[in-house]
Amino acid sequence: MDLRFPTAEPTLAEIQALDAVIGESVVAEGWEREHGGAHRAASQRHHLLAALHALQDRVGWISPGGLGELSRRLDVPPAEAYGVASFYAMFALEERPLKTVHVCADLACQTRGAGALMDALEHEPGWAPSPCLGLCERAPAVLVTEAGEHPHEAVIAPATASEVIVAIRRPAAELPAEAPVAAAAPQAATEAADDLLLLRRVGIVDPSSLDSYRAHGGYAALRAALDMGPAEIIREVTESNLVGRGGAAFPTGRKWAAVAAQPVRTHYLVCNADESEPGTFKDRVLIEGDPFALVEAMTIAAFATGCEHGYVYLRGEYPRAHHHLQHAIDVARERGYLGPDVMGHGFAFDIEIVRGAGAYICGEETAIFNSIEGYRGEPRSKPPFPVEIGLFGKPTVVNNVETLVNVLPVMMRGGRDYAGIGTGGSTGTKLFCVSGNVADPGVYEVAFGATLREVIELAGGVTSGRTLQAVLMGGAAGSFVRADEIDFPLTLEGARAHKTTLGSGVVMVLDDTVDLPTFLRRIAAFFRDESCGQCVPCRVGTVRQEEALIRLTVKPQHGNPDVDRAHELQLLRDVGLAMRDASICGLGQTAWGAIESAIDRLGALS
Ligand code: SF4
Repeated sequence: MDLRFPTAEPTLAEIQALDAVIGESVVAEGWEREHGGAHRAASQRHHLLAALHALQDRVGWISPGGLGELSRRLDVPPAEAYGVASFYAMFALEERPLKTVHVCADLACQTRGAGALMDALEHEPGWAPSPCLGLCERAPAVLVTEAGEHPHEAVIAPATASEVIVAIRRPAAELPAEAPVAAAAPQAATEAADDLLLLRRVGIVDPSSLDSYRAHGGYAALRAALDMGPAEIIREVTESNLVGRGGAAFPTGRKWAAVAAQPVRTHYLVCNADESEPGTFKDRVLIEGDPFALVEAMTIAAFATGCEHGYVYLRGEYPRAHHHLQHAIDVARERGYLGPDVMGHGFAFDIEIVRGAGAYICGEETAIFNSIEGYRGEPRSKPPFPVEIGLFGKPTVVNNVETLVNVLPVMMRGGRDYAGIGTGGSTGTKLFCVSGNVADPGVYEVAFGATLREVIELAGGVTSGRTLQAVLMGGAAGSFVRADEIDFPLTLEGARAHKTTLGSGVVMVLDDTVDLPTFLRRIAAFFRDESCGQCVPCRVGTVRQEEALIRLTVKPQHGNPDVDRAHELQLLRDVGLAMRDASICGLGQTAWGAIESAIDRLGALS
């Protein structure tokens, strides 16, 4: 049965918000019959996510009237539009005030006082706990969103209870400005900055100025690439042994070659900037601090692989990154670095930003396609692989932000020289997001091969006066290592040998103040919330996993004495194994990994 909103009408503000994003209805009376309106409307469905954002930015929620109007204009059945809107954590389907104060309750913030912050706010109305906001280096973090004709977003991080109370009461536009981006990348202010490949401009270049970017070496790589031509670019990238930095570590050159060879047109380039793994914030720092670098790197990737159009799927919780990147794209277009004739080379390429809306699973490449196309962000079965059938059914390159930015030094130094950095199996440098109980949380760049201990020391070491309890590598989908295991080299092969993962570069440090059972329950709750529900092992398994953990750890402190602990632990293992073996995508396959490692390596729950 279709879901309809027969009586709800949109308000004037909602109509104006939709007009600004998708224009007047394309299925006005008579139009469809004369012009094949349904077909045209179907081709507009990819505006759905932007239209939902527009409604919420304007009136603070997605009302039945607004959703009905949107459905009518895009010719999307109301049930489907509702299904999409309800898929994303950031969209509210119940009326709420124009302003929402989101207090992060996730892992990194938990290590730095989020629990105490929320306890202090317990009797204060006007805020809500939130999943990871990607501001882990400034935990505990708060994001303020205020809807209206001129919507405003503000970040308070780190936040105190009194600052949150001020944020609840004052207009968002009057809140203090966010800390400068340089604070998130402490190496930029040191002598080591010149040796950095990826962070060298962060905190130094003016992110709003193309001239500043060019004065710091910007667009030299694209110029070199245009002279090389597509085949030579792909040869250099292949020779560099660059692999994807989003977690899967797939060889970039091989992916590019596969798309370049596809005779079918159009080719699409999708930059995955969704980094929603709790503890990951490196892509945000790159975009906020050096947005033209991503625009330039995407242009090189597009030229090499024959992509006519690029999308940046940007995490919805990143207002500053959105602002900086949109400005960089607009300026690059104005100055001929994007558009129909890039740098006068007769090559056409342009970039569009698609804002995510708070769904961890949309970091999965095929879930991104569904999300951009206006469907629920559920992963697709593979094969077919995106290099053959990807976005809108066309050959698609999907690369993470950090992977793409690595292409700039590959172009400037040459693939062979780049491959000399790091180790034989892991070339180049890697960004690590160091959060939790260290003196200077932030993004740190090291050549592959530095040890975990060295990276923690770069971040100032464990909080003064405390001892290291464990390190969570790779985020919620990763695994724990013990304090006596931190001397292994941070390489793909080193991590494998030590039965852990680098994932997307999360290094979350837990000192002895962190309550491990509470931390584990948060991991379980995270996966239960974020499972898209498409396949049974993950949909049911993540719930059962959390239930078993609660039985094992809540009341009294070390477990309920009535609980058969051996049975519950076996149940956890059985459920974990089923999720790992039978889930469709990486979310279900990794949902048990961190908890398993806590049991086996840290002796948790014993
Ligand atoms: Fe969805 Fe989980 Fe299945 Fe992935 S494993 S498709 S997140 S239900």
